[in-house]
Amino acid sequence: MSAKLVLGTEIREQILEEITKEVAEIKEKHGVVPGLVTILVGENPASISYVTLKIQTAHRVGFKEVQDSQSVDISEKDLLALIDKYNNDDSINGILVQLPLPKHINEKKVLNAIDPDKDVDGFHPVNVGRLMIGGSEVKFPPCTPAGIQELIVRSGVETKGAEVVVVGRSNIVGKPIANMMLQKGPGANSTVTIVHTGTKDMASHCKRADILIVAAGVPDLVKPEWIKPGACVIDVGVNRVGEKVSEKTGKKIAILKGDVNFDAAKEIAGYITPVPGGVGPMTITMLMKNTLKSLKYKLGII
Ligand code: NAP
Repeated sequence: MSAKLVLGTEIREQILEEITKEVAEIKEKHGVVPGLVTILVGENPASISYVTLKIQTAHRVGFKEVQDSQSVDISEKDLLALIDKYNNDDSINGILVQLPLPKHINEKKVLNAIDPDKDVDGFHPVNVGRLMIGGSEVKFPPCTPAGIQELIVRSGVETKGAEVVVVGRSNIVGKPIANMMLQKGPGANSTVTIVHTGTKDMASHCKRADILIVAAGVPDLVKPEWIKPGACVIDVGVNRVGEKVSEKTGKKIAILKGDVNFDAAKEIAGYITPVPGGVGPMTITMLMKNTLKSLKYKLGII
């Protein structure tokens, strides 16, 4: 194997330690800790497990954590009132609404009701606009793209002047990471291309990439011959391609695959993220970082 593995599982630990230390310092100096509320509507098992992981991580770094579970038949009006309550709660710095919401609730309306200064997911149009403007305007970069940027920077990969090719143009990964990598500043300043299903010759673009970020949701979409030797390959894709029995627990678990043929690509790339264990662990980590930032903005120490 030639490529260096870029492990979100390891980089997550570094960042969570940094956050824990900073939370303790702020508590000592200002007498407050970041407050994060997770609002869960209904009992979707996948949503419960995501929320549980977020709660555990928030506890670990020393946040005040509020879990607000609501019945699946809560009305949109009542959910909006709940958001308003947390918008006005001084002890809460981050509001998180676990998606998906039941069909009778307009998700967009609910997410847009979150105070942009507590929108630690970074999906509110105000924060999308701030991200586009860049520089000191950016408050909460969306968590998965922010995690991708951390993986690249902390691996020591040069971004200034690098050819970055992003596969996929979704609002949660492709567009924001492309926007972040082209900003003038550290960890970015790259020349960015986005490819998608309308692109004529995807291979020719990927072959130019010093940093190839793939977020399409198509297993093995990127062929090994599309990878420039020595490139940094960030595979965001998480595709369930089957099931297996876990050796640890004896329970059935999903077999996950990325969008890149890992076994072949690792022989060509200089850096590569595995799936799982690459980008995945970074998303919740960056959610913690955004929540800490929210408190720091409030205290005027950032
Ligand atoms: P999405 O909303 O479905 O967007 C996929 C994008 O990829 C679209 O822009 C689509 O192009 C493009 N695409 C799909 N097939 C393509 C093809 N054959 N050739 C070129 N472009 C293609 O997906 P997403 O939400 O961005 O997520 C992408 C993947 O990342 C998924 O596997 C998801 O599970 C994973 N993900 C992981 C994390 C994490 O690890 N924390 C977080 C978010 C997402 P068009 O726009 O032309 O349709």
